[in-house]
Amino acid sequence: MQNKKRLMRVLGGGALYAATFFFDFDNEILNIAMFLLGYFIIGGDIVWKAVKNILRGQVFDENFLMFIATIGAFAIGDYEEAVGVMLFFQVGELFQSYAVDQSRKSIAGLMDIRPDYANLRRGSEIVKVDPDEVMVGDEIIVKTGEKIPLDAIVIEGESMVDTSSLTGESVPREVTVGSELLSGCVNINGVLTARVTKEFGDSTVSKILDLVENASNKKSNSENFITKFARYYTPGVVILAVLLAVVPPLMYSDQEFTKWLVRALTFLVISCPCALVISIPLSFFGGIGGASKLGVLVKGSNYLEALAQTEIVVFDKTGTLTKGVFNVQEIHSEVMSREELIELTAYAENYSNHPISLSLKRAYGKAIDNAAITNVKELPGHGVQAFVHGKEVLAGNYKLMKKMKIAYFKGEIMGTVVHVAVGGEYVGYIVIADEIKNDAAIAIQDLKTEKVKQTVMLTGDSKSIGEHVAKKLGLDKAYTELLPADKVEKLEELFAKKTEKGKLVFVGDGVNDAPVLARADIGIAMGGVGSDAAIEAADVVIMTDEPSKIATAIRASKKTLSIVKQNIVFALGVKGIVLVLGAMGIANMWTAVFADVGVSVIAILNAMRVLNTQSIHNSTVPAWEGNVEALSNA
Ligand code: ADP
Ligand code: MG
Repeated sequence: MQNKKRLMRVLGGGALYAATFFFDFDNEILNIAMFLLGYFIIGGDIVWKAVKNILRGQVFDENFLMFIATIGAFAIGDYEEAVGVMLFFQVGELFQSYAVDQSRKSIAGLMDIRPDYANLRRGSEIVKVDPDEVMVGDEIIVKTGEKIPLDAIVIEGESMVDTSSLTGESVPREVTVGSELLSGCVNINGVLTARVTKEFGDSTVSKILDLVENASNKKSNSENFITKFARYYTPGVVILAVLLAVVPPLMYSDQEFTKWLVRALTFLVISCPCALVISIPLSFFGGIGGASKLGVLVKGSNYLEALAQTEIVVFDKTGTLTKGVFNVQEIHSEVMSREELIELTAYAENYSNHPISLSLKRAYGKAIDNAAITNVKELPGHGVQAFVHGKEVLAGNYKLMKKMKIAYFKGEIMGTVVHVAVGGEYVGYIVIADEIKNDAAIAIQDLKTEKVKQTVMLTGDSKSIGEHVAKKLGLDKAYTELLPADKVEKLEELFAKKTEKGKLVFVGDGVNDAPVLARADIGIAMGGVGSDAAIEAADVVIMTDEPSKIATAIRASKKTLSIVKQNIVFALGVKGIVLVLGAMGIANMWTAVFADVGVSVIAILNAMRVLNTQSIHNSTVPAWEGNVEALSNA
């Protein structure tokens, strides 16, 4: 909208300005009137902004510089310059706001996930409606090739779903009745009927778009630096300009006042810091966009900037370095059948979202009768307590058994053990084993390549498993058998060890580690696609669940910062040179404006380079060449 208005101004005023060159008015007054009219059509908004700012006491900005410089040019009779300079300035502004718009759109567009409509079932009819109009519980139809408009559960049909726009994962996911559908994914074949589970505003697609579009609201230090810089810079150049206009004519009687006034005004036009002001946020836009293309959502320029200084990376184990998909290895009970034990445990775990619970429910595989379960309590770092058919069931690790004073099986078992007790009596245990993620070892290596000083693992799991994983992956340290609160404490210890500038990054899956995610300088969550808690608590979300993307994020950060630095040096350098030329009378107002627009364009083009993700994409071994190994009896 704003751009359209500006474009109209530039075109209308520009035409009028051009006309003044063709018609030579003999009448001086008419001539001036024509220029003034052109001036106000083109730059009226700049003048108005400058006046408003002056009234508010915020004198020193680019509008102000343009305003006094051009009014000054009028005053000394350089009408053509006054209008022309304003025209070019506006063309530059126009170009810049197009660039900003474009990069905003391209970030959102990279993630081409916004659905345009939903096929809603209304009675026997199917109507195309805006996704916003669909309510929880409604039935929608997703045809082949369509985007899934809202989060939903399949109630009919089978298909393959392409999740790549959300996760970067190129292997399609199979869905069937009962599967969860995430909005933003694309239905590849087959027709699905699904029941909506979340309104559009709460659906994955909206959350992610919000996140990406608002990422630039959190300003980086570099951007704050520019704001601070402008506070000193602008008054500085204004004072210099005044000195330039006044001092030489006073010192040397042969120097004409108007000549130096022209130089001073030129100096002011040159001094506009537009290129800097625009290119730095653009570089961050680019960095955030480039990273999101690779499945890493960075929630703000400040986090993108901080990542370059990563010194310590702390990992959660389950779901972060390991897949969090446990396979049942062994079911042992002396008082009931194995089927009964797994059923009981699955019931007790029904309301938990812990990877262990999900795996046990998957292993049980049958529908669970919610009515049989009451008084559920999750005990973080321990397990769960629930009443199943009126009887108290405890399921969790040995700490839970100890806490509840229940004697449990204490033999050496390699694997994660879920002990189960009913009504205070021990009934047996289930041994489950997780797998290390394919790229976990590469992830640790890559971090070392990026000069991360220390990699640490914190886990609530047993010592034997924790240390085994840490050794296997080449982590520097592992702390095991921690409760969520212990994790925060360990984190504090690690904080004390890092340098002042260095950053501590925590990477978790958001289950039982929200406090540490929040406490770290930068909290990175495995997006677990759809895990709301993680997406909300973290500063960076890895949509692909791959730990190797941490190094990718660090590379994106470093690249962005180096481009920002290049732009600062380049813009200030050119500015400095042209300022000196202007003061010496070598550069006129036209040179000044061309220099400024030129520098802006080059800086913007440079900023766009961040979007090129080739150089930040992880270059090492493809994921499938990693080692797959179950953590049982290893
Ligand atoms: P981590 O993610 O580091 O493994 P958690 O705090 O999530 O740590 O869990 C620690 C331990 O607590 C698990 O290894 C498991 O033994 C036990 N535990 C936690 N939640 C559950 C649960 N829902 N069911 C069974 N055991 C659990
Ligand atoms: Mg965890």
